[in-house]
Amino acid sequence: MHSFRYHQGQLFAENVPLQSLAEKHGTPLYVYSKATITGHFTRLDASLAKLNHLICYAVKANSNIAVLSTIAKLGGGFDIVSAGELYRVIKAGGDPAKCTFAGVGKTRDEIEYALKQGIYCFNAESEAELHYINQVAGELGMKAPVAVRVNPNVDAKTHAKITTGKSENKFGIDFDQILDVYARAAASCPHLVIKGLQMHIGSQLTNVAPFLEAVQKVIPLVTEVKAKYGIEFFSIGGGIGINYKQSLDSGDAAWWQENAEVHPLTVQAYAEAVVPHLEPLGLRILCEPGRFMVGNAGVMLTKVLYEKRGAAKVFKIVDAGMNDLIRPTLYEGWHQIVPLKQPADATVEKVDVVGPICESGDFLAQNREIPLVKAGEYLAVLSAGAYGFTMASNYNTRPMPAEILVDGDKATVVRERQTLEDVLKGEHLA
Ligand SMILES: *Cc1c(COP(=O)(O)O)cnc(C)c1O
Repeated sequence: MHSFRYHQGQLFAENVPLQSLAEKHGTPLYVYSKATITGHFTRLDASLAKLNHLICYAVKANSNIAVLSTIAKLGGGFDIVSAGELYRVIKAGGDPAKCTFAGVGKTRDEIEYALKQGIYCFNAESEAELHYINQVAGELGMKAPVAVRVNPNVDAKTHAKITTGKSENKFGIDFDQILDVYARAAASCPHLVIKGLQMHIGSQLTNVAPFLEAVQKVIPLVTEVKAKYGIEFFSIGGGIGINYKQSLDSGDAAWWQENAEVHPLTVQAYAEAVVPHLEPLGLRILCEPGRFMVGNAGVMLTKVLYEKRGAAKVFKIVDAGMNDLIRPTLYEGWHQIVPLKQPADATVEKVDVVGPICESGDFLAQNREIPLVKAGEYLAVLSAGAYGFTMASNYNTRPMPAEILVDGDKATVVRERQTLEDVLKGEHLA
């Protein structure tokens, strides 16, 4: 569900026409809908109501401080993967005591910073890391709250680059080793407080079966760890997939029905499958959604610069490239692309939508049927709110795009477009 709709031939974010934002702020431009983020949070929160639960939004999906502040005000916590993300959460008014710290390569500086800020828990991904956190905490005269991430060896049935819960992935500790790891940590790490168990099997899961399989596989382990070490929480990770195909006409009930079958994973189906298994544990349940919260809450606007009719293909060359949105080339991510002004003519044409970057992998869509758009007209790349701006770079010395948060009829620049001075900041002649 989202708040992007055509109204009188113009694409709107909530009550704001996107064309006006593109003209005022330039392109490429990321635009987020606050109502969509709030709606996603509220629906997930309600579906987990039977559990003592905390939603820890995965900051890496979209880390703009205005987005983080929206989630903090709704009572959300955060799943962070670096000191930088914790710094952002604090700047946004988020509570460190609701933050879990994931990732396989935490450094001393990061561990120290997180300890001093009083985070809720470190989710450790190796035994070496547990020992290191113990050592750093000891040196600071502190106790470090820790959970261990289990790798349940479950196939998430998603893209290979976003699968995390198989034994061949670098994440977590093998299922069969977990109990020994807890036992050794309890025996030899006096500066740790064992608080929980965590898992996360992958991203963009569009079926509930792998979630259910993982939860059912890990529950006996959670029960045993709870009995032995008195843990207080079990984190089931994130990974709830979103529908990258959108209807932009309000009240298009037939469309939603048809496409519900393409992506059967609704938040209701997810909760109905896992909550009955989690409730009897009597633990606090953490959930770490990233994409679900923000993916469909954002679009990237881009302007058509040129058209090139080649021997094999028609190319629409736009002003946004893989440095602005890398998902299509990195993950074969599919993003719907629509014109900001609905054309009167229903004709579509098969084109490649490509950016200005000097790489053949620089495309937003290939062999895609889109309406006829001319140079100077604008396109919206939909479902770009997650892993969009956060993965942007300055490749080809292109400034990072601006970001806008729409709330009703108000549009706020929540990050200014970089200037060339910004891009070269800190660089010196030898
Ligand atoms: C990336 C990540 C998430 C969020 O994944 P989504 O697919 O965006 O929901 C949650 N937990 C951990 C540990 C992660 O690394």
